[in-house]
Amino acid sequence: MIKPVLAIHGGAGAIARAQITPETREQYEYALRHALAGGERVLAEGGLALDAVAEAVRLLEECPLFNAGHGAVFTRDAEHELDAAIMDGQSLRCGSVANVRTVRNPILAARAVMEHSPHVFFVGHNADAFARAQGLACVDPTFFSTTARREQLEAAQRSGSETIILDHDSAVSNTDGQTAAPIDESNKMGTVGAVALDSYGNLAAATSTGGMTNKWPGRIGDSPIIGAGCYANNKTCAVSTTGKGEAFIRAVAAYDVSAQMEYAGRSLEQATNQLIHSKLPAMDGAGGLIAIDAQGNIAMPFNTEGMYRAYVVSGQAPFVAIHR
Ligand code: ASP
Repeated sequence: MIKPVLAIHGGAGAIARAQITPETREQYEYALRHALAGGERVLAEGGLALDAVAEAVRLLEECPLFNAGHGAVFTRDAEHELDAAIMDGQSLRCGSVANVRTVRNPILAARAVMEHSPHVFFVGHNADAFARAQGLACVDPTFFSTTARREQLEAAQRSGSETIILDHDSAVSNTDGQTAAPIDESNKMGTVGAVALDSYGNLAAATSTGGMTNKWPGRIGDSPIIGAGCYANNKTCAVSTTGKGEAFIRAVAAYDVSAQMEYAGRSLEQATNQLIHSKLPAMDGAGGLIAIDAQGNIAMPFNTEGMYRAYVVSGQAPFVAIHR
């Protein structure tokens, strides 16, 4: 009998430990618990890993604290361009959307691409139109805006129009735990993701993001790219990443973990540590990931000061953390 497992993240590069107030910590932890509980309920009722990751990410998209859906960051043109991907480890089917502007829950659009089109990846207004035709909720783009995100854009543009702010601190730490100072103390809320193992032995992964504050219009990060920000294969693992998208694309990060397990016989822990603490830092890749393997092992490494993260093994108490 396989025990279902669900892990989620709300982005790497958390608010510095010294600066987080008890109230803020509580808000984040509550939001993580709420999304975890939503996904866990799906698994407990016999749902598929795919259903659980979609539900957990949908709930995180609805929460303005995280950089996905409502609360997404602004582009250089003060607009929102949202990216999301989902993958089913049993069938290797997957779906993605990028640069969507009106679909309320981009993760549901990604799932619809997977289930109701012969394709894998839609971008821009055609992705929005597809989601609308599928009957998904659509909103005015201002729905995604929050005052905090607008202030972040204004701060980024005051400091130079070319400044592109990641939702991460600059600190890339080594395994000895040494870190540099964060880039921007006001800007530590990230991409969201979920990975799950269901009671039938299926793995699934989902990732959703608004990208980076002040990003160039049209820029797409790793999150909606299958194999970079999202990957699942029942033979190996399910992975959702968060971090500097350009580096995660160049590292083919999520698939790299799976490939290390499949071809080099590494454990989930070895493979994820190699990626996050060795391969990515060498390419200026600040960030982290969550992953589950086919046996239900969980890995959540990050090389930033923190990563909003949580997991639950069915029937056990949930684990919720922000910093190391
Ligand atoms: N990986 C995302 C991107 O580059 C950002 C993040 O994880 O916060 O778009």
